[in-house]
Amino acid sequence: MSGVYLSTENQPFCKGCGHTLVGRAIEKALGNLENLDPLDLVVVTDIGCIGIIDKQFKSHTVHGLHGRSVALATGISMGLSDPSKKIIVFIGDGGATIGLHHILEAAHLNINMTVLVHNNMLYGMTGGQPSGLTPQGFKTLTMPDGRMDHGTDLCQLVHSAGAAYARRLYAMGDISEVLEEAFKVDGFSLVEAVEFCPSHGIKFNPGKKLYELTEKAGLLPILLENNKAPHISAEKVDGESLFTPVKEVKAEFSHNLDGRISLILAGSAGEGVQSAAELLAVAAMSCGLSVTKKGSYPVTVGVGFSLAELIISTDKIDYTGISKINAALVTSVDGLKKGLSKIENMTDGTLYLDSSLEAPETATKVEINNYRKPMGPRSASLLQAANFVKETGFIPMEAFYKALAASRISKAIPREKLEKALKELN
Ligand code: SF4
Repeated sequence: MSGVYLSTENQPFCKGCGHTLVGRAIEKALGNLENLDPLDLVVVTDIGCIGIIDKQFKSHTVHGLHGRSVALATGISMGLSDPSKKIIVFIGDGGATIGLHHILEAAHLNINMTVLVHNNMLYGMTGGQPSGLTPQGFKTLTMPDGRMDHGTDLCQLVHSAGAAYARRLYAMGDISEVLEEAFKVDGFSLVEAVEFCPSHGIKFNPGKKLYELTEKAGLLPILLENNKAPHISAEKVDGESLFTPVKEVKAEFSHNLDGRISLILAGSAGEGVQSAAELLAVAAMSCGLSVTKKGSYPVTVGVGFSLAELIISTDKIDYTGISKINAALVTSVDGLKKGLSKIENMTDGTLYLDSSLEAPETATKVEINNYRKPMGPRSASLLQAANFVKETGFIPMEAFYKALAASRISKAIPREKLEKALKELN
């Protein structure tokens, strides 16, 4: 059955998993908050069994690297700076171990968020290895005689760091009231739900009860509170701004777009592909269009491909993925290889290709030009982007030149140089 916040009651966990119970309590707890629209809720998760709960939600969801969900949530909370938005992190005890300092920093700053730590005392997704929160005596795959030293008391740690609210409880019965209480806290709240993992925990600790295990290890249910003002925004700390303010792009030009264009800019790392895509994005936004941009490149700096995906639309863009592109702007072999599958799927639009490249098989129109020559390889993508605007006319060239003038690129490539290079193209 679909709820207001969760699309289904069927949780994706093993039979008897404690995560299921917490997942079910969430719908009720959120429903008891005053007028919380699902789109005012941001759910942040990372790797681990509990991380897959995000696909159940009808809210905004962000799925990060293992242990980094609290760091992501901190950025989201500080960036939004809006107490009416609810930011909830679901993390396992494994993720909490990996990202412990992110949790402590968020607690220390008393960032507005609720962190639900699902402590089943092991890494469930990888087969039951112990985490930093595994209590003394608890047996796991790699500690068959039980943990010998004390596990981390997360609630005490975050309380010492300054968390407004820290609570440990057993994930049993209806815990929605506690979750509701945590969600209502101004500032940082953490709920550590102690659970059993039927797939990996019970088989190594047969017949044990949750309270027996945690009582013996000194990890009993607890509530710890600090009276501290929430850290709503990072805009000013001691009079200094922590962030460079986001520049608003004002809509000052008109456009000729009907619907949307999905395109890729593909070239080599270090050749300005991402900057050219950003310029195109800003220019389109200055014409009142909605834009999303996704950049990808290898972790090694300045080596390999660089690919930018852009969606430019007259309507709001809800989903930022691209299944089919209408245009591809390609300047190098690296870019061509990376964008090939999308290019081969093109059925309309144009492939703009540098003359140094061999045209791949495609049903779409191919336009070949020497983009790498007029201003050098490092500006080939910029020239291609400018040419794309000129050829399609979906936005005025003035919008592109204005975006260029406001960017750092304009120092090396002023408008006159770009105009001259555009004339040199066929
Ligand atoms: S492996 Fe354990 S923690 Fe993961 S879903 Fe199954 S029971 Fe739950």
